[in-house]
Formats: sequence, C-alpha cells, structure tokens
Amino acid sequence: MFENKDSSHTSIENLGEFGLIDHLTKNFKIKQKSTVKGIGDDAAVIACDPKEELVITTDLLVEGVHFDLSYVPLKHLGYKAVIVNLSDVYAMNAEPTQITVSVAVSNRFPVEALEELYAGIQAAAQLYNVDVVGGDTTSSTTGLLISITALGTVKKGAAVYRSGAKENDLLVVTGDLGAAYMGLQVLEREKEVFKVNPNSQPDLEPYSYLVERQLKPEARKDITNLLKELEVRPTAMIDISDGLSSEIIHICKNSEVGCNLYEDKIPLDPQVIATCEEFNLDSTTIALSGGEDYELLFTISTEDFPKIKGNPHLTVIGHITDEKEGVHLISRAGTKIPLIARGWNALKNEE
Ligand SMILES: [Mg+2]
Repeated sequence: MFENKDSSHTSIENLGEFGLIDHLTKNFKIKQKSTVKGIGDDAAVIACDPKEELVITTDLLVEGVHFDLSYVPLKHLGYKAVIVNLSDVYAMNAEPTQITVSVAVSNRFPVEALEELYAGIQAAAQLYNVDVVGGDTTSSTTGLLISITALGTVKKGAAVYRSGAKENDLLVVTGDLGAAYMGLQVLEREKEVFKVNPNSQPDLEPYSYLVERQLKPEARKDITNLLKELEVRPTAMIDISDGLSSEIIHICKNSEVGCNLYEDKIPLDPQVIATCEEFNLDSTTIALSGGEDYELLFTISTEDFPKIKGNPHLTVIGHITDEKEGVHLISRAGTKIPLIARGWNALKNEE
C-alpha cells in the first residue's frame, strides 16, 4: 500500500536521516513541563529532581546497514552499541547512569552468539559505570537489530545543547579524527582478500589504532570532568558520530551562526595520514565525512581559551562567525570552501 513506486509517495532517500526525523516529528508538541529539551539534540532532557535533570537518548543498529558481522565480532558490536549511546549522553555534558537493551534476532543466531553480544554490552556497562536496567528480546525474520536507550543525569541548567554557540566562540574538538573510517576501509579490504584466499592471514599491525577505533571505540567520559576542572563551560556541544562536517553544520544550524574551520588545524593520527596515502584518499575529506569517531565537538567563549591552551586532549580548529558568513573550510592554501553535510548517512544515496 505504501510502496515507493507510487508517484504520490516520497522516497525516504529524498529526506535523508535527519530530514526524516524532522519530517516525522514536526507536529509533535511538548506538553509536559518536565520536558526541558525534546527531539533535536544528542539527547532529551527531563526535569526529575529540584537539582538535577535527566538525559535520555536512544540508538538503533541494524545488521547490513550499521554493521557487517563478517568482520565485526559480536562482543565488539555489543560494546560499540553501548558506547554510541553513552557518547550522546556525554555530549549533553551529562553522566550516564542506566541503559536498556532491546534486541531482535533471527534464528540463525544461537544462544552462544547472543551471549557474546551481551558480554560486550556488560563490559562497556562495567567500564562506564552504568546499570543495565531493562530491555526486550524478540525474533526478526532477517538479521540482527539492537536498540539501546541510555539515561544520564546533569546538574539543573548545566546541560549543553547544540544551540548555544555565539559569534567569535572558538570551535574545539577532542582527540583525533578519521581513524574509525580508515579502520573500516582496512577491514573491508581484508574481507575482499579473504574471499579470494580464505587462508590469508591479515597483518593488521600497521593499522592497529585504526582497527581499534572502528571495532572498539570509546566515549569521551573524561572530557566532562576535564572541562569542570578547567572551569570551562562549553557554549554548545555535540558528539562526532557522522563526521566533523555534519556535526559543525548541526551546531551552526541550531545556533544560527556561521563558522570557519581551518584545514591545517584538524587533528589527525599519523596512522590516518599514512593509510589515507596508501588508499589514495584525502585525509581532510575523511576527517570531515568519515564519522564514528565518537569524539566531542564544542564551542567555548574566547575568554576561556587560556584555560584550554596546550591541553593535549583539545584542539582549536576554527571559530564561529555571523550566520550570514556561512559555514566554510579554510584550506591549507587559504581557499574558502563551503562545508556540506556529507557525513555518513545510512538513508541517503550518495554519489
Ligand atoms: Mg550525537
């Protein structure tokens, strides 16, 4: 009845993932006083206590779309499924406290496979000090689906949204970018080699950092505390799940500002640079569009710059401008290139 072939129907691809969410939820009105922030940020914020607010976020991972079990061990998948949610909680300047885990699984998975998956979930929950408090398991006709919801708390009024960036603020990123995407390239190449010669033993040693960033990412739980210690309160914040470019555009759109991002400031690990050369890929493009880095991107007032200057975890990569100036990458050669949201997008067909 709702097939795409009918011309009166819109294909999901036309909207893209974020367009689809906006479209489906645009008429949803907030009625509860306790809903401090609804749809449209890394997590929702609910008032639950005179001193604290509750943060809630959820994520759905689908086999064949978000992961490929031919090179992702189930234990790593469980771990990563938790991390991607916790990263969204940290991106609100909050501390995660509980998760719920729901899984739909086809009968090709034995119980032992699910035990592996849950071992990964447990390992992440333990390391990040969150409780697994519920969930659901059901059967699926094809493949595996994992949906995790994470809850967290933040001091009343201390949540940091995507919408708070002001003109002249500095744009700061944690860690380095592009490694997770290059790890995926390496794993996909090995999968092709393995198809041709199943006896081949891949040498992943030169790519160890990249593969680890892809298969066993960590969320930046250290940053909320670091910023507290430095007495820096970001004006806006988001986590990098889809790529630097897409996240900068989210902050600019939500904050109604523009931005200049400097190519020569983007932090890259030497393994990313070397592997990009090997694969004949441009490392800036990979940092901008690769995604899955789970670093934090935030803006701070220029007055706070001395507090973060020289910190090995933090790099200033640009500054916020007036909305009229648009969102640009300033290349090494000094050319101004408009940034487009080419972050990884599971729903949109790209060139
Ligand atoms: Mg996010």
